[in-house]
Amino acid sequence: MASILSTQGIVKQFGAFRALDGVDISVERQKITLIIGPNGSGKTTLVNVITGVYKPESGKVFYMKRDGRAIDITGWPPHKIFAVGIVRTFQIPQVFQKLTVLENLLAVARGQRGEGVISALVKNWVKEEEELAKKAFSILKAVRLVDKWNTPANLLSAGEMKLLELARALMAGADLIILDEPIAGVPIDQAHEVFKIVRDINQQQAVTFLVIEHRIDIAFKYVDYVYAMASGRIISKGLPEEVANDPKVREVYIGG
Ligand code: ADP
Repeated sequence: MASILSTQGIVKQFGAFRALDGVDISVERQKITLIIGPNGSGKTTLVNVITGVYKPESGKVFYMKRDGRAIDITGWPPHKIFAVGIVRTFQIPQVFQKLTVLENLLAVARGQRGEGVISALVKNWVKEEEELAKKAFSILKAVRLVDKWNTPANLLSAGEMKLLELARALMAGADLIILDEPIAGVPIDQAHEVFKIVRDINQQQAVTFLVIEHRIDIAFKYVDYVYAMASGRIISKGLPEEVANDPKVREVYIGG
């Protein structure tokens, strides 16, 4: 299988402190890749480098377009990285609390089209709105939020809020969705539901996922490949059961 994203030798420093010390990862297209590691191991910093929030001191980030061409996106600004199809959800959902679920999805599409653009042809505009609403409903079906389409976002449960974030990433047309702790603060039954939906979307819609998650007991059941980080380095990689049984990983989690 081809990779959709790879990093090569990423080094990121904060002053004299090296938060990332030569990180190489490869994210396979149409798979779910998980990054684990104790607090402070560099997971968020790596995502920040991939999504353009930070420029690395050295190393490269490559993104493979659908046509198979690799592009060097190192140091690109976040909006350009978003535009090529890499969309990140945040640990704390950045949804519009007072808008309904449907309105939150339509806001993503309108934001992409550009604020303040008045269509000269009202007929076209109406047609476009209809198509967006159709697309939004099919996404809401996929994340099992269709019954809540008219519910204000602030009335959703913790798990539903994560699913709304996922829906918004799909609405943005993402090829690669980066989920930052998608089940943090989510009760266990809802947490399994979130991962099951991620798995379904991954399989049915050919979307690739890169996931950071602490609750590895749950996450390991749903992912294809795992990278374990510690002190800014990749200390283990492989299938979930391989990484789970790696003494280096056990040492960091149990011994460290
Ligand atoms: P993780 O996501 O694995 O918990 P982070 O990537 O957030 O880890 O942090 C890795 C290390 O880099 C930590 O020691 C953290 O204190 C440090 N760090 C992260 N962001 C900054 C920053 N903006 N300035 C200085 N140090 C930072």
